[in-house]
Amino acid sequence: MKLWKPLAVLSLALCSSPILAAECATEIEANDMMQFSKASIDVPASCKQYKVTLKHTGKMPKASMGHNWVLTATPDYAPVAKDGMSASLDTNFVKAGDTRVVAHTKVVGGGESDTVTIDTAKLTAPEYTYFCSFPGHAMMMKGTLKLAK
Ligand code: ZN
Repeated sequence: MKLWKPLAVLSLALCSSPILAAECATEIEANDMMQFSKASIDVPASCKQYKVTLKHTGKMPKASMGHNWVLTATPDYAPVAKDGMSASLDTNFVKAGDTRVVAHTKVVGGGESDTVTIDTAKLTAPEYTYFCSFPGHAMMMKGTLKLAK
């Protein structure tokens, strides 16, 4: 019986452990219908860094139905999306050196994915908007991100 004691202690420790650590990552899907799978993302305040993985679940290539995930403070969303349209696929439809962009993934095509890590200390605005800056997509592909209190 002695052999089983450490196991019993271990399982007791697991069961009685306090609340699980906050999940500091999320996955968002984009498809050939120009849609994101999430309309909002809440980032737990306890996370120092937060990972967002964009997954393109469609089949179309990035040249015709590419998607990215770009994060800006909400008031910056429209002008950044507009500037992105005049950038190219090579720069992921993000203006080079745009300091209004908090984070962005690269443009992915069907079946591809990309992950970006956000420093949550940078999230000082009351609300952020994420969107796809592929020309013509931002109006349909957007959502809000907030640092949860
Ligand atoms: Zn898109």
